[in-house]
Amino acid sequence: MITAATRLTCPKCAAAYDPNLVQNLCACGSPLLVEYDLERAAAVLTKALLRDRDATMWRYRELLPLRDPENAVMLGEAMTPVIPLTRLGGRCGLSRLAVKDEGTLPTGSFKARGAAVGISRARELGITTVAMPTNGNAGGAWSAYAARAGMEAVVVMPATAPTINRLECAMYGARLALVDGLISDAGKIVGAAVKEHGWFDASTLKEPYRIEGKKTMGLEIAEQYGWEPPEVILYPAGGGVGLIGIDKALRELAAMGWIGERMPRMVAVQAAGCAPIVRAFEEGRRESTFWENARTVAFGITVPKALGDFLVLDALYATGGTAVAVGDAEILDWQHRTAEADGVLLCPEGAATVAAAAKLRESGWIREGERVLAINTGSGLKYPDAPRCPEPPLLQPGDPLA
Ligand SMILES: *Cc1c(COP(=O)(O)O)cnc(C)c1O
Repeated sequence: MITAATRLTCPKCAAAYDPNLVQNLCACGSPLLVEYDLERAAAVLTKALLRDRDATMWRYRELLPLRDPENAVMLGEAMTPVIPLTRLGGRCGLSRLAVKDEGTLPTGSFKARGAAVGISRARELGITTVAMPTNGNAGGAWSAYAARAGMEAVVVMPATAPTINRLECAMYGARLALVDGLISDAGKIVGAAVKEHGWFDASTLKEPYRIEGKKTMGLEIAEQYGWEPPEVILYPAGGGVGLIGIDKALRELAAMGWIGERMPRMVAVQAAGCAPIVRAFEEGRRESTFWENARTVAFGITVPKALGDFLVLDALYATGGTAVAVGDAEILDWQHRTAEADGVLLCPEGAATVAAAAKLRESGWIREGERVLAINTGSGLKYPDAPRCPEPPLLQPGDPLA
């Protein structure tokens, strides 16, 4: 066996489950996490071995849950680049600001990581139909990987989700329904439908493997920083799975002795129009409460109450991190500034992390010289309606260009 995965455990009540069976939540209602024999992983996997492997997320297969690597469903999940934002960073006192650009992954967002591992494991366990609520990008990614695996995908998303996400699901042959409401409403509809039809519920954190896919972000970050992770990582948190995944990756690497005990200070960035984690953090709570009337241009982080909120908050407290809310006008402003200054077109969610970095530098929370990594979770090209740009002049043929 290549994977060092041993069992599934509950972070709330410590119950253990068999990973060879189909599992959703723990009986206590908490998400389940994959546990690894990290001593064994450290004994078989070496940094030297890693150097000779393909530059894709599957290079970390000992730390991924697939029993048989042959079951991997692949669309070319290349490692994503860490790009220094030299000019923008220079302007706001962040001389070592960089962005990890997840927009280069299949389907244009980091959701491909979760879908790749989630669908691969679902296929390995004999599942034929997966159902899920989504704000858009997860639906696109899971539909693509389901098509690749020859499986059925059932997707429910808010009617207000970006048009491109609707088109993606349709093109990949998923069964798509829109709901006149939020992702939480879509989740309730999916919850009832999976019981009725016997489909597999692949909702965020209701199955244990999507987080393992997202974990590869953290493994890549550690490797790309020469096994000395940056001082600060900013993540646009909706369900927060990416943040939990990065944190889990770094903890596993620390346990393997591959990185030191110092963890990056994790920052959860949310939109001012939907900031349940920020509110909970500011009140010093361990869990969030439902955010009413959620609304923001950063559609991927419009999650009024996340199932894994306690894991996100734990990571923030444990690493000396923080949580920051950014308004929509600031998000669009920093999206434009980053594109203009350094040639990187962030998605609105990613732009929120850069805006938050600037705010934290201004308040002194981030110090000059610290290595700061903002996660751009998707391609700005997936949001053709969001950017704020000046209207170009309309010329008639033969008109001079002033
Ligand atoms: C889903 C999504 C997020 C939030 O992801 P979580 O890990 O669930 O918090 C952020 N940005 C984009 C572009 C997304 O699609």
